[in-house]
Amino acid sequence: MTKAMMDDPRRIREENPFESMMERFDRAAQLLNLNPDLYAVMRVPNRELKVYIPVRMDSGRIEVFEGYRVQHNFARGPAKGGIRYAPDVTIDEVRALAAWMTWKCAVVNVPFGGGKGGVVCDPAQMSLGELERMTRRYAAELIDFIGPERDVPAPDMNTNEQTMAWIMDTYSMHARHTVNAVVTGKPVELGGSRGRREATGRGLLFVINEAIKKFKLSPPQTRVAVQGSGNVGGIGARLLHEAGYKVVALSDIFGGIYNPDGIDIPAALKHLQQTRSLQEFPGVKHVSNSELLEVECDVLAPCATENQIRSENAGRINCRILAEGANGPTTANADKILHNKGIFVIPDILANAGGVTVSYFEWVQNRMGYFWKEDVVNERLSDVMVASFNDVVKYAENHNVDTRTAAYMLAIDRVAYDTRMRGIYA
Ligand code: NAD
Repeated sequence: MTKAMMDDPRRIREENPFESMMERFDRAAQLLNLNPDLYAVMRVPNRELKVYIPVRMDSGRIEVFEGYRVQHNFARGPAKGGIRYAPDVTIDEVRALAAWMTWKCAVVNVPFGGGKGGVVCDPAQMSLGELERMTRRYAAELIDFIGPERDVPAPDMNTNEQTMAWIMDTYSMHARHTVNAVVTGKPVELGGSRGRREATGRGLLFVINEAIKKFKLSPPQTRVAVQGSGNVGGIGARLLHEAGYKVVALSDIFGGIYNPDGIDIPAALKHLQQTRSLQEFPGVKHVSNSELLEVECDVLAPCATENQIRSENAGRINCRILAEGANGPTTANADKILHNKGIFVIPDILANAGGVTVSYFEWVQNRMGYFWKEDVVNERLSDVMVASFNDVVKYAENHNVDTRTAAYMLAIDRVAYDTRMRGIYA
């Protein structure tokens, strides 16, 4: 792409995830004929916090990082959402991700609002000690804003169970007692839920299982291309492979691998773990991340990051079902193109809701002090994902709209109802 294309204001606007989210929100609100007072309250976040985080680096010098926490909506319960560490985190991205959490929790009917956090940093360049110090200081800055009844963070890109354990410990040190319900996605030994690590990938599998029935496909007849091989993509690919699907493509940030006859996913994931990339994996065609999105397949599952499918490449997407494991992988401008191609979209706020669903289970278990077996977690997750998939599909049919619009309408309607019943404190 040329510099002129990169600097094109239309492209910058298309790739602003908050604008993409708002375009869908506005369309759904208009179709719902949302009351103007509710519209005014629901279109903006409840609270946005920006913090500066001093960290003693291994060199002995202090470096100051910028961090955010956006609490988008509390109408249905405490804010809920992950924390992301990446060099390109922006407030607009965090704001969009927080709003998506509000709609996602409403789609799967869990009693949370939406929140999201991010720290502008490059975790690949930081030692474990630096990451721990940064996480603890960020958590200390958030003390007055988070908590089991207020806002419950979880992992997202480049954060994991260890990050959550540090946040829980920092919060607990200040509270003077252990508060494990302040975060979800913790290690099982510290009060995490069994099945949480796999929950987003497993939820994705459950909705793909439902979607292929509409196309009269069975798993072995279904070719799946997965972008990303982290918590969502890697675990999703493994579970799809175990369920008999033919996973034909997989990628990491450096590029992808492709084999139309199916990839040996356990071997590819082992290679990734050992070499930290898929680059040298043998017996497959090596493709770029953008080529991966255009391979011929039945299900395309973008599970890496935002803005992967845009107006410029949407016309070349070659799948029947788009299952959005990532948040915001498709821009609002690309929606129309996919719709005209007849692609069945399982939108992000439904497809990747397995994570927040089991996070809700984890929060419930923490508050009960009683832990469920993994079978129980997975069965309850299946119930939620299948019911939510059917709710969205039925809503789309009844209102003659596409599935993404249906998911937004369903979510906005639920949040609007609760806001109206509570009343606006104005
Ligand atoms: P992760 O850090 O575990 O994995 C991210 C994967 O994407 C890695 O394979 C990485 O190499 C790849 N990647 C990162 N940037 C990329 C780029 N620019 N191009 C191509 N590949 C890139 O993160 P994750 O937790 O798997 O999250 C992935 C997506 O799923 C994010 O959009 C996240 O918000 C969303 N999500 C995660 C969860 C969860 O429970 N972890 C839940 C819901 C949604």
